[in-house]
Amino acid sequence: MAVLEILRWPDARLSAMCAPVSGNVNALAADMLETMYDAQGRGLAAPQVGHLIRVFVMDVTWKEGAPTPIVMVNPVITAQSETVMPSDEGCLSIPGILASVDRPAEVTIEWQGATGQDHKETLTGFAARCAQHELDHLNGIVTFDRISPKQRARLEADYAG
Ligand code: ZN
Repeated sequence: MAVLEILRWPDARLSAMCAPVSGNVNALAADMLETMYDAQGRGLAAPQVGHLIRVFVMDVTWKEGAPTPIVMVNPVITAQSETVMPSDEGCLSIPGILASVDRPAEVTIEWQGATGQDHKETLTGFAARCAQHELDHLNGIVTFDRISPKQRARLEADYAG
């Protein structure tokens, strides 16, 4: 396993549409989890470490207690709540910045695990938010793309400065 370099916005690879995955991504997923924990994060998407494929990892409990690592390959949101909630989101590729992003409070996601097994789960709370944030990365979308132009201009100035 290895800690990988995390790309920082505005690296162009963070704006790329990622390709579907076929085959085993166990080794990459293990490295991504190690990189995420090393960076004190709760989620990390493959494009953030330079791989433009549809894979992300998340663990929304490890900071408070037992780790629950999840690897999502080719994730698809198949249902979402009408209720939308705002909350501050950080991003390992935009260090030091919190952006208030509106997202559905509940989502149903279907995905494959690192070795190909099928999964389907309905996520709520922080897990739902984290999964949507990471899935955005697979479509070349970062938090800056989810906020008002006014808020974006202010945060980009903070980030640059
Ligand atoms: Zn992010």
